[in-house]
Amino acid sequence: MPELPEVETIRLALEPHVVGRRFERVDIDDPRLVRPFEPVAVAAELEGERVAALDRRGKYLIVRFESGRVLLIHLRMTGSLRHVADGALADDPHRRAVVKLDDGSDVAYRDVRRFGTWQLLEPDEVDPYLQRRLGGEPLERAFTARRLSERLAGRRAPIKAALLDQRTVAGLGNIYVDEALWRAQVHPLRPAGTLDADEVAELTRSIREALRAGIARQGASLRDYSTPDGRRGRMQERFRVYGRAGEPCPRCGTPVDKIRAGGRGTWYCPNCQRLDTPQARQAARRSARRPSRSSRQSSV
Ligand SMILES: [Zn+2]
Repeated sequence: MPELPEVETIRLALEPHVVGRRFERVDIDDPRLVRPFEPVAVAAELEGERVAALDRRGKYLIVRFESGRVLLIHLRMTGSLRHVADGALADDPHRRAVVKLDDGSDVAYRDVRRFGTWQLLEPDEVDPYLQRRLGGEPLERAFTARRLSERLAGRRAPIKAALLDQRTVAGLGNIYVDEALWRAQVHPLRPAGTLDADEVAELTRSIREALRAGIARQGASLRDYSTPDGRRGRMQERFRVYGRAGEPCPRCGTPVDKIRAGGRGTWYCPNCQRLDTPQARQAARRSARRPSRSSRQSSV
């Protein structure tokens, strides 16, 4: 499933092709993409809109039009976007939508599992919509250890589950959470509220490093993800633990283990990432007398 680095790679590649261009013709072939609205009606609304900017928030791609309206694209599990020159669109049974731009080129949306969504929002709907669903942007300066610490305080959920919750940090998914926790040497099942200040500071750095590594290699192509020019990302060749059960930890050589955490397959090093640490024991004693703040889960 595309995570922040994959969506950011798509954004960077598409930006020069779409900004300033007008949506000349829009064909939406899958009602699931825009439901509960009619594909024909949404396509008609999009035609004539000119792109002012292509942004990203978490795993959302944000097409901002000059009119102030926004097309919010979420790729979910298997969505991807291609940009091709005029007349170069090859047959594809999994294509769900095509936007013909005013320079003749096409932006094609492909989605095998069909969980992706396109939402057309009015100008005043965009910020409230995103703010309800997303926490801080991890690569922005405002994302600090203090801010992450506030989001984790009092939470008994495993740190893995807390980081998959998009309201804790926006844009992380199964891959980059495992990679960040390995970098920070934090066990995925540690109760989120038991990390001390030093551990949260290290985790904050590790999240940024894991995401930057992914962006630098154009994301990870495990199944369906590819860049808008049809190339595969290379991050999957550089995973430290993700998907590497039984292989040696790059830090200490101990075989990587696979468990379930936050409802997901989770890879970690049982030697570098200990569950029973002095910090965890101390935090457990502290919180024994304190009521825990309950927290709902969201992995949108
Ligand atoms: Zn290790």
